[in-house]
Amino acid sequence: MEIDLLGMTGEETARLIKEAGFPAFRAGQIHAWATKGTPVEEMTDLPKAMRQTLTEMGCFVSLPTVRQKLVSAIDGTVKYLFRLRDGQLIESAVMKYRYGNTICVSSQVGCRMGCRFCASTLKGWVRNLTAGEILGQVIAAQNDLGLRISGVVMMGIGEPLDNYENTVAFLRLVSSPDGLNIGARHISLSTCGVVDGILRLAKENLPITLSVSLHNVITSERKQIMPITNRYSVEELLAACKAYFAATGRRISFEYTLIAGINDTPYHAARLADGLRAGLGKEMPIHVNLIPLNDVAERNFRRSSAAAVSAFQRNLIQKGINATVRRRLGPDINASCGQLRFREEEVLEQAIEQAQAQVRPPK
Ligand code: SAH
Repeated sequence: MEIDLLGMTGEETARLIKEAGFPAFRAGQIHAWATKGTPVEEMTDLPKAMRQTLTEMGCFVSLPTVRQKLVSAIDGTVKYLFRLRDGQLIESAVMKYRYGNTICVSSQVGCRMGCRFCASTLKGWVRNLTAGEILGQVIAAQNDLGLRISGVVMMGIGEPLDNYENTVAFLRLVSSPDGLNIGARHISLSTCGVVDGILRLAKENLPITLSVSLHNVITSERKQIMPITNRYSVEELLAACKAYFAATGRRISFEYTLIAGINDTPYHAARLADGLRAGLGKEMPIHVNLIPLNDVAERNFRRSSAAAVSAFQRNLIQKGINATVRRRLGPDINASCGQLRFREEEVLEQAIEQAQAQVRPPK
């Protein structure tokens, strides 16, 4: 059996250590080492025999390794292509703000949500990340950069609510005082609108910020760009958001990626403002975050013009909807999600094809 110490809370580690017959105080040492990403063999304040027994029990701590690292010369954003224990690739990005460093983590290898404008889903879904693998991204980035990360956004590759158990386990680990101790108020989770997941999350007592990737408020049109809308209509999604706010008191941020000619007209702005008010009611504070699309070469969508972006924002504000335009971080390093992994897999596939062509004699 394999036991991922990185994916265990302090209490779970204590239970394991007790069952293994070790003195209770060892659990704290082991958990502290795991939180730094230190492999069992290097937990130097444990007796050698204990490290050996732990290894024989199947205990391990494994951080992702850096396969590629890009640093933006413009704003210092760091983008990682990480390699997991089984060779799968994921991406993370560290963004440097005045008030601290925030990491954007992946929750799955690939994605099965199928959003038409997104690079993460181009090659489908491979597997879920474990809680330890999501946490490992934060620790690996901290270790590599030699700084403390004080905020987390789950906005990398994957749909966190399509990997519900591991996502919630990760949120508890990363915010735990005996773990990385990153306050839930500095954590955001972004979802394409998995309604049953939103309703479940509302009951977890985790005061994180929920971001909902909306991108269109007209159900029939949203279906064209976000297949999840076939499962849940926009009306059902907004009802879940309203319930989430009622249960948690946490405001929700609505992400709206502007795609030229698809969802960026004055008509769409008006429908968005009216739809949000109708669906969420008068009491709920509403914030819309506008994101000009990052062009994905494989997709036939283009970003809205700067003029269309500001007109869209103005139209929302005039209708009483609070709207900001997201600053694009790391524009020189392609910091948007999914693209590095996609490129790398393409290159790998080409290399494999070439290698196979060489061993296979031409017909
Ligand atoms: N699956 C989750 C989290 C990952 S995506 C979700 O859908 O929210 C993080 C954000 O980037 C989402 O709002 C997503 O819609 C957006 N996004 C995806 N591709 C994009 C692109 N090419 N340009 C701009 N934003 C994009």
